[in-house]
Amino acid sequence: MSIAVSENPKLLSLTDRGLYCEVGDFYVDPWRSVENAVITHAHSDHARWGMKRYLCSQEGEGVLRRRLALDSDISSFAYGERLNINGVHVSLHPAGHILGSAQVRIELDGEVAVVSGDYKTAPDTTCSAFEPVRCHTFVTECTFGLPIYRWEPDASIFASINDWWRENQARGRCSILMGYALGKSQRALSGLDPSIGPILAHGAVHAMNEAYRDAGISLPVTRRLGELPTGFDFAQALVLAPPSVQGSTWLRRFGEVSTAFMSGWMAVRGAKRRRAMDRGFVLSDHVDWPSLLGAIESTGAERIWATHGYTNILVRHLKEQGKWAEVLSTEWEGEQDASEPGAADQEDQA
Ligand SMILES: [Zn+2]
Ligand SMILES: [Zn+2]
Repeated sequence: MSIAVSENPKLLSLTDRGLYCEVGDFYVDPWRSVENAVITHAHSDHARWGMKRYLCSQEGEGVLRRRLALDSDISSFAYGERLNINGVHVSLHPAGHILGSAQVRIELDGEVAVVSGDYKTAPDTTCSAFEPVRCHTFVTECTFGLPIYRWEPDASIFASINDWWRENQARGRCSILMGYALGKSQRALSGLDPSIGPILAHGAVHAMNEAYRDAGISLPVTRRLGELPTGFDFAQALVLAPPSVQGSTWLRRFGEVSTAFMSGWMAVRGAKRRRAMDRGFVLSDHVDWPSLLGAIESTGAERIWATHGYTNILVRHLKEQGKWAEVLSTEWEGEQDASEPGAADQEDQA
């Protein structure tokens, strides 16, 4: 069974393995094992194990290698570089979601389809900025595709995080800042003020910090927990950790703590309480509602497919505007709702 996604079904179709370009014989972020996989970004729902060959952006190769295996068959290409695969023109364009995230542009006989993967348009010093790409068919995520989702500017979110850290210091508590290890943690780190105190990193976060630094992204200095001397005073420190540490014995070493979680879901009342956090910071690596509509508009696409998130609401809204829009069922996931038990433990779905 396959569904034509682009007008020419040989350009892009949906199969049980993923989005498929028949002429080029490759898939985009497939969820079953295939020969050729073009990967939008290294989050685990998009970059899965078991593909014979991977193709990704140059910016994202380091993180993808760390996520898969160092010896995986990965070819990488600069943003904007045009590849000819069996007569299909393929290029990758920045998606602004995490380091190396790409939209995949596929062109055949003058028809263009773009698969966005996950994206955001807000500025972020830890990855290349989202680039609008003109196309006929646009496959968009809509994790936060509801009018209630509108993000504050990063500067004000980072200021709140730094204030929270100072308050905790004044009370002699260690600050535990939780977020996904890949992407979210590095973006938060870029906004932390290292003059406040030491910034420490859980091993999972540390590994990704190193991948970012290797790719040339400058981040404030962090120390790995394992390398600290005995008797270290945690009361002044901020610790970056994945959400899975919440409620675990791992937290005991820090003495008195204040815990916080960073997620777009923190915009919803009650999400913080259900997750049993002291604080919630609304920081998402996905577009909010106005940016989602703006990004779709900037593609000029005549066919819009909505995947993962509030797909029905977005599709209804676009249809009301007189646009062609449909839901596309994929196995990709958005940022997990932290209020669902266990959901946020999948630490890499930013
Ligand atoms: Zn993602
Ligand atoms: Zn996703």
